Amino acid sequence: MKVSLEEVFGSEIEDGGRWRLVCEKHSQICQFTNKRVAQSFKKHPEQWCEICRDDSHFCYDCQIDWPSYFTAEDMGHTGHRVGEGN
Ligand SMILES: [Zn+2]
Ligand SMILES: [Zn+2]
Repeated sequence: MKVSLEEVFGSEIEDGGRWRLVCEKHSQICQFTNKRVAQSFKKHPEQWCEICRDDSHFCYDCQIDWPSYFTAEDMGHTGHRVGEGN
């Protein structure tokens, strides 16, 4: 999982709020006014990162796909033939 939660200060606080989630893989940012809400979305970048939403991995051995923010190892496909889904 390559999402970080950052607190932003000063002029960086825009209408979106002071808590910022960053999808490091895709450089997508989403801002929240409430830290707890931000934390709940941290595990679900497909809810706010358009690229995570569209991107997936596919295991040719198991014939399933999953969102790309989980690695093959996360999903138990270590050593399988894994490629990009769509
Ligand atoms: Zn993403
Ligand atoms: Zn597999």
